[in-house]
Amino acid sequence: MEKSNEEIIEEMQLVVNQMVVDDLEENPDLAQEYFDCGCCGKSKSLAGSIQYGNYRLCNDCVLLAETGFALGKFTDIQDLIDAMEDKRLEELCKFIKDEEARKKQLEN
Ligand SMILES: [Zn+2]
Repeated sequence: MEKSNEEIIEEMQLVVNQMVVDDLEENPDLAQEYFDCGCCGKSKSLAGSIQYGNYRLCNDCVLLAETGFALGKFTDIQDLIDAMEDKRLEELCKFIKDEEARKKQLEN
């Protein structure tokens, strides 16, 4: 059976959150170490970040990247980097944020 976009996003959120947990378990010092994300440009924790080719992405952007790959929105990390620049992926980002907001509401 085909997974819905919502199911894919939920799965990716779990996987990507787990990366932070795993990184911190392996090296708790990572929580204090920051870098400039190659995608969103913000100063972010190294925990849960991933190196894609020439770019190191923060955990938030890893979620965007992995979700985008899983949904077939793009196939190359360069596409995400370019899209972040001209905001072509705003819709996808909004979709994920909406999904997060919906989940929070369910938790409350
Ligand atoms: Zn980022």
